[in-house]
Amino acid sequence: MPRADLVLLHSPSVYDFRKKAAIYGPVSDVVPSTPIFEMYPIGFMTIANYLKSSGYSVRIINVALRMLKSRRFDVEKLIRSLDPLAFGLDLHWLCHAQGSLELAKIIKKYHPQTPVILGGLSASYYQQELILYPQVDYVIRGDSAEEPLRQLLEIIRRKGSLKSVPNLTWQDNGGGTRVNELSYVPLDLDNLSFDYGGIMKSSARYRDLAGHLPFRGWLNYPIVAVLPWRGCRNGCSTCGGAAHFYKNICGRSLPAYRNPGLLAQDIASISHYLKGPIFILGDIRQSGQEYVERLLAEIKKKEIKNDIALELFSPASKEFLGMIAASIPKFSIEISPESHDEEVRRAFGRDYDNQSLESSIEDALRLGCRRVDLFFMIGLPRQTPESVQQTIKYCGVLLREYNKNGNTRVHPYISPLAPFLDPGSLAFENPEQHGYKLFHKTLEEHRQALLAPSWKYMLNYETEWMSRDELVASTYEAALGLNRLKVKYGLLKQKEGRIIEIRIRDAMSLMRQVDEILLVKNAQVREDRMNRLRARLSSFSSSSTMCKKKELRWPVKSIRFNFFRIIRAALARK
Ligand code: SF4
Repeated sequence: MPRADLVLLHSPSVYDFRKKAAIYGPVSDVVPSTPIFEMYPIGFMTIANYLKSSGYSVRIINVALRMLKSRRFDVEKLIRSLDPLAFGLDLHWLCHAQGSLELAKIIKKYHPQTPVILGGLSASYYQQELILYPQVDYVIRGDSAEEPLRQLLEIIRRKGSLKSVPNLTWQDNGGGTRVNELSYVPLDLDNLSFDYGGIMKSSARYRDLAGHLPFRGWLNYPIVAVLPWRGCRNGCSTCGGAAHFYKNICGRSLPAYRNPGLLAQDIASISHYLKGPIFILGDIRQSGQEYVERLLAEIKKKEIKNDIALELFSPASKEFLGMIAASIPKFSIEISPESHDEEVRRAFGRDYDNQSLESSIEDALRLGCRRVDLFFMIGLPRQTPESVQQTIKYCGVLLREYNKNGNTRVHPYISPLAPFLDPGSLAFENPEQHGYKLFHKTLEEHRQALLAPSWKYMLNYETEWMSRDELVASTYEAALGLNRLKVKYGLLKQKEGRIIEIRIRDAMSLMRQVDEILLVKNAQVREDRMNRLRARLSSFSSSSTMCKKKELRWPVKSIRFNFFRIIRAALARK
């Protein structure tokens, strides 16, 4: 097997999930991952492509996915067999705090001299604490690790001075923490490559297809994302990717955009290999009218046949939707109104009314939009249990209005803000002001919380309007209500709805049993009872509770790949 200079590893959220099952809850029901969050960040691909173009070999190993696919997969054996210049681990989403640190520990056990580098938004936020863990050698801060990582690898290889590496946090020989200046903050994303062909070549080179796949089930549903920008102009109260976070933690005062011509080319290259849907992350309107016009004109020229889904941060005008329809023959949209209640929505940071939301849905459907996905959330400022139930009623109103005569293009979803309110978000930084109470603040507290037997105890917050118990109860009640509506309006078959209802009730009952066990005073009795329950918990460790993953799927062709082109790319020389 060829040796890689850098091995990028993605851990499960909780390393031991195969042995110490827990009810991770419906935390990932509305994303492609399972509850152990096996999906690696898109940054793995841009880092790998960037470093390869600078002469480094990079291997990605999705350890989480390989563990998920086989109970017998031996992580330690794999780590022992590797011999790179350095290991890289993501701590982008905080839910990986336990998994990434545990994996780093295993790396150090077998390779005490090989540097372990962590990066991502959560790593950046907790850099000072993270660098103190003995299994962590370096933290790369900011939203653009590609170039700092290249410089760091150069230093590791040639043994130069670490002081010159931008965005680096490290420890000097005396054990003192050194925080280099956050000076690498690129103004655009034009020197990055979002070419998925690089991943395909790499999976052939290292003969490891499973280790390169982004999430479980991807081969059946090969959705890929493209990124118009890094950063955000908005300030939603619970979001750790909001404007102030990028400013305070990543040193970014404005989003960095990708040239529309390059973004359209990214989409065209993907469609060359894959026939699955392509998701344009973020809202392209963020970059202004001129950007939107140029991007859509470029996409139109490329005559993309794939379904393309666009994320919108707010309702869209008829003109904008018309431009999309004229450029993308098969388009879908995704909006997150968060709540039916305009006051709750405003408190969260989204200031628009239901009238404009509904007008957008109507316009989009009239213009041929293949699907409108609507995401609602539980755990918002000013949101009460009653308000959550009203949100479900509102979903019923929307479904009655738009999903009639066999039409099933509007799909509502609801999920809790879990397991964590994002560190660095406005609500996390000023909890009282936003009506939040925090249970965990430090990285170590979050790491330990992830080992709790149910997601109720993992939650790092409750609100002035809902206790942890109410957040949990409202989540399952809402799930039951929405499930019934989906059956009623044809989004789910009767049988599918029945299975989901049984699963939700099973999860509710297990949550109650965990609560009872935790009240047992005798530690040994408590542990024995918990161990007896774990077999039942394990089915909730690796699959959804509140909805089927299939529900999230935008349309895909039955032939999802262009195999000839994939093989040609995989065999191509570097
Ligand atoms: S949730 Fe709000 S702040 Fe966060 S990325 Fe989306 S629009 Fe930006």
